[in-house]
Amino acid sequence: MQQLMWFRSDLRTQDNTALSRAMSSGATIALYLVTPGQWQRHDDAASKVDFWLRNLAELSKALAALNVPLLVRHCHDWSEAPVQVAEVCHEHDISAVHVNEEYGVNESLRDQQVCAYLGQQAIAWHSHLDQLLFKPGSVLTRSGGYFQVYSQFRKVCYERLHTALPALITPPKAQTPLAIDSEAIPETTEGFATPSASLRLLWPAGEEAALQRLQRFSDEQVTYYKDERDFPAKPGTSQLSAYLAAGVVSPRQCLHAALAANQGEFDSGNPGVVTWINELLWREFYKHTLVGYPRVSRHRAFRLETEAVPWRHAPEDLAAWQEGRTGLPIIDAAMRQLLETGWMHNRLRMIVAMFLTKNLLIDWREGERFFMRHLIDGDLAANNGGWQWSASTGTDAAPYFRIFNPISQSQKFDPEGQFIRQWVPELAGLNKRDIHDPSALGGLFAPAGYPRPIVDLSRSRERALAAFKNLSARE
Ligand code: FAD
Repeated sequence: MQQLMWFRSDLRTQDNTALSRAMSSGATIALYLVTPGQWQRHDDAASKVDFWLRNLAELSKALAALNVPLLVRHCHDWSEAPVQVAEVCHEHDISAVHVNEEYGVNESLRDQQVCAYLGQQAIAWHSHLDQLLFKPGSVLTRSGGYFQVYSQFRKVCYERLHTALPALITPPKAQTPLAIDSEAIPETTEGFATPSASLRLLWPAGEEAALQRLQRFSDEQVTYYKDERDFPAKPGTSQLSAYLAAGVVSPRQCLHAALAANQGEFDSGNPGVVTWINELLWREFYKHTLVGYPRVSRHRAFRLETEAVPWRHAPEDLAAWQEGRTGLPIIDAAMRQLLETGWMHNRLRMIVAMFLTKNLLIDWREGERFFMRHLIDGDLAANNGGWQWSASTGTDAAPYFRIFNPISQSQKFDPEGQFIRQWVPELAGLNKRDIHDPSALGGLFAPAGYPRPIVDLSRSRERALAAFKNLSARE
């Protein structure tokens, strides 16, 4: 009896738990569902959908080398998944379906429904841990709850890593060819524009491209990560997030590459490697949070009392932020980087998110949605976690009174103004002192064509403090 490997956010052949299990259980056929209606409902970015399809084309080639045919079925959304998957099973005499677990509320519901439907037809369902190092629910507080504080979560992860390091999976061997042809991978999908050629060039598809990126980062950069990760003008971070989000590379592969660069140590030795592994654990933490506190998957605040924050309805300010014309150079540079590349540096994500939610006092959900619609690495757990952290509404969030000043952040993390010059060419002629705050130059010297700040930083800071303080008073 044949096995079905249903690919979702795990678009690779190496170190893929479900694929290896399927292939070790019998002749395997692969399936991918194209679901544009679902993707639209999830605010998935056009660049991300394009990245999925490009990776799917590469995956199809890698699977062909293993003699695994890849079938592609089209449906509007996941409500059709049970019938679609069952049909494929009947057409190809499938006895078992293998998947790697996904963790959003809709993903879990989809899997429950498909599993139940297949069960009625005596088709087995095998769901495997693969997207994470630790299964959600296996890293808990002493009283059995999900952690709310990252450092405590990380401590338990370290203990686990010491006793049971998740091993890489032995790559599957090619199976005997089947008399089934792989199906064509669509190049575009309705409702999602094709991104620019320059954006596509930044994010080459395929697991070989991802592994090369990982190798280059662990050979050349990871040891400097701690010192360079906060400077957006430097290539200080791995830029692997899009590959991790689509599962083109696995967290185990990342962990093992980091360990190899640090004599097998993860919590001592090179500080760059240790800091990078900590970031992989942040990824882990937010996915566990998604499972432990499903309300965050439904765009509810983690800290429920913050749902009473009097967010401003300010469509003009929101549009200026979205379009990179706030008059604050570091904010505008960051937003333009997002719009053009589908990615934004982590330091800048925090700065623009704090600016939106504190200085503009606009609901974090507006920012979360806009990021999701533009990020090639958009990931519900990390995006929601990052937004709620910045807005002081989440697990282990920044305290509400710690509000970044975008000008001092700019002076600190882009001291030469190099990043601003790249993305805000109107300011390229300014020196490194003036470029962070051209409004300070006064009308006569201010650069032509660049707006004045849309908000007064100190007054808006006071406004945010008052909004959150009143809230604490109401608790
Ligand atoms: P590196 O610094 O090289 O880190 C390695 C990997 O660790 C990343 O690829 C990512 O998978 C993970 N990681 C790093 N930092 C974090 C973090 N703070 N939280 C969770 N995982 C992390 N990350 C996403 O993958 N998708 C998102 O949609 C997303 N939205 C964000 C929104 C906001 C407001 C903030 C503040 C952060 C967000 N992040 C998101 C986290 C982080 O900014 C990105 O993971 C990081 O910038 C990706 O670049 P990199 O691959 O070079 O990261």
